[in-house]
Amino acid sequence: MNSHYKRISSLLIIFIYFIFSCSNYKKTPMSSSWCDKELRPELKKLKEIKTNREWFKVYDVGNHVYAIVEPYCYQEVISYLIVGNEKALLFDTGMGLDSISPLIKELTTLPITVLNSHTHFDHIGGNHEFDNILAMNTDYTRHSAANGWNHEVVKQEVTPEAFCSKYLPNVDTANYSIKPFKISKFINAGDTINLGGRKINVIGAPGHSPDAIALLEEQSGYLWTGDTFYEGPIFLFADGTDLAAYQKTIEKLALLVPNIKTVLPSHNKPFANPHLLVETKNTFEEVISGKKKGKEGEDKTMSYDFGKFSFLIQKDFLTFKQ
Ligand SMILES: [Zn+2]
Repeated sequence: MNSHYKRISSLLIIFIYFIFSCSNYKKTPMSSSWCDKELRPELKKLKEIKTNREWFKVYDVGNHVYAIVEPYCYQEVISYLIVGNEKALLFDTGMGLDSISPLIKELTTLPITVLNSHTHFDHIGGNHEFDNILAMNTDYTRHSAANGWNHEVVKQEVTPEAFCSKYLPNVDTANYSIKPFKISKFINAGDTINLGGRKINVIGAPGHSPDAIALLEEQSGYLWTGDTFYEGPIFLFADGTDLAAYQKTIEKLALLVPNIKTVLPSHNKPFANPHLLVETKNTFEEVISGKKKGKEGEDKTMSYDFGKFSFLIQKDFLTFKQ
C-alpha cells in the first residue's frame, strides 16, 4: 500500500512537473517556432496540386498558372509557373532551402525559362538549378548573379523561429547560402516573352530593388507584382531601395488597374484585389509627403500601417521629404 502510494505520488509529481514545464515551454523562444504556425486560411480555399516535395505547396490559380508557396518559412515567398503551349516561365525560384527543379518537372515537361521579380535572396534560391535564365541588365542583377548571397547575410533565414525544418530534415543550416547563377540573356523593361499562345509583358518596377519588375498578361488580366505590392508589410528599407522610384512604379501599376483581373504578389497570398494598387499609390503619397504619421519600427525603420498592407521604410530614406 505504502509503495503503491509512493508510486502514485511520484507519478503525480512527474505529472505536475510536466504541466509546469509545458507552460514554461510555451514562454520560451521555441514556442515561436515556425512549425507552430497555421497555414493561412486563404490558402486552404485554393485548388491545391499535390506533389512529392513537402516543403512547397502548389496551387492552381487559373489560366495554367501555378503558385508555388513556401509556407513553412516566415518569408512565405511565392514563385509562379506560367505555362504556355511551347514554354513555361518560372517567375522566381524561392528560398533555395529545398530544390525546386524536381517540383517544376512534376508540373510540366515544357522547357523552362527563369525570370526573377528581383534578385533579393528569397527569390533566386533555386536559380542555379536552371540553365535558361533571363535577367534585367542592371549592375544589381549582375552582382546577385555573380556572387549569390553568402551565409552571413542569410543565416537568419534558417533559425527555428524563421522556418520549420520538419519538412526539410536534411537541410544544412550551417552552410545555407544563395548560390550564384549564370545569366543566359539580358532583357529590358517593355520586352514581351512569348510562351506559345500567351504573351507576358515585362514592366520595369524599380523601387523595392533596382532590378524589380512586374509581369502583365493582357489576355488573362493577370499582373504579377513581385515585392512591389503584397498584403502585409512591404519592405522599403534594404540597400538599393529607392523611394522616388517606388512611387513612380506604384503610380504606373495603379494605372493598369482597370484592365487587371487579379494581382499575383510574391509573398503571403497568391492573389490580391487589383484595387489595392490604387490604395497603395494613394497611401504612399501620404507617407512621403509627411501627412501620415508613422511608428518607430525596429532597426531604424518607420512603419506606416494601412490595414491590409503597411510600408516598412528605412528612416534615412525619408529625411529628404519630412
Ligand atoms: Zn525583395
